[in-house]
Amino acid sequence: MVSEFELIRRFFTRVTPGAVLGVGDDAALVHIRHGMELAVSTDMLVGGTHFFPDADPFFLGHKALAVNLSDMAAMAAQSCWVTLALSLPEVDEMWLEKFSAGLFALADEHQVALIGGDTTRGPLNLCVTIMGEVPHGAALRRSGAQVGDDVWVSGVLGDAALALAHIQGHIQLAAKDFAACASALHQPMPRVALGLALRGVAHSAIDISDGLLADLGHILACSNVGAEIAFAALPISCTLRPYLGQPLVKHCVLAGGDDYELCFTVPVAYRPEVEKIASNLGLLMTRIGTITAEKKCIVRAADGSVINIEESGYDHFR
Ligand code: ADP
Ligand code: MG
Repeated sequence: MVSEFELIRRFFTRVTPGAVLGVGDDAALVHIRHGMELAVSTDMLVGGTHFFPDADPFFLGHKALAVNLSDMAAMAAQSCWVTLALSLPEVDEMWLEKFSAGLFALADEHQVALIGGDTTRGPLNLCVTIMGEVPHGAALRRSGAQVGDDVWVSGVLGDAALALAHIQGHIQLAAKDFAACASALHQPMPRVALGLALRGVAHSAIDISDGLLADLGHILACSNVGAEIAFAALPISCTLRPYLGQPLVKHCVLAGGDDYELCFTVPVAYRPEVEKIASNLGLLMTRIGTITAEKKCIVRAADGSVINIEESGYDHFR
């Protein structure tokens, strides 16, 4: 049986040049550069609620960090440090090996250091706290949208929710289609470079974790505005498109969770800047609508009719 300390040493201790002091003391120490604000965010993944307990541990390690990197991206903050609070039903060394490999692979890609955490026995629960730097006043808040702004989203919408719907038996996808969507569900790619590029360009931003309408709804509520969205403009993968006739699939696009794309608003004058960012990053960026003064969100079909959305997003307590 490995001890808790041995476990931390073996699976979660690395040299951390980006911190003054990393894992091993009662607290880690970090240095914030002059002129910077510290951005802090926590996201918890609960076994059985956010993932299947038998999910591939490498993907879980990836996703536990990815969802946090996504929050930093949505604030236009540069991720620097993370802590990891782990609750494990048992010490499974193979599981820990793969979990930490998935976490560190993504951490290394984004030069983020794991500087501390906590490890206890209990129901499977993965909680990452991320800290990042953003120049004073440069963070992208949900409250910054202005009437007349364009509404943009990165990437495509709905693939992750479609994969989940297939796993839950609500829809039957062809095997190759499921494989294509499953990577969006298990290995979301946080839009880190995009978030940083949007500093000084976007008025507001959010990452799409609970579905486009729910998350855009947060921008609208915080900014005291509304929006008009064109359903036909929404970016949809070629995998999802053939299934779009089914109401469930429309729902995946508008209200499906786990996309981890960014939704952001930008003044019309900055359209060329957004297009430049899109081509620099090789990332699809789509203008899906406009911020309006009337405080509601309207989604229009191609024929101009209003699409009725009963359920605007995934609510954990519903
Ligand atoms: P304490 O009793 O002071 O809370 P712990 O024994 O919980 O200390 O942790 C010892 C060290 O290991 C601390 O520096 C803590 O931040 C770190 N640590 C514990 N669990 C993890 C983990 N899962 N990932 C990274 N660091 C961890
Ligand atoms: Mg502790």
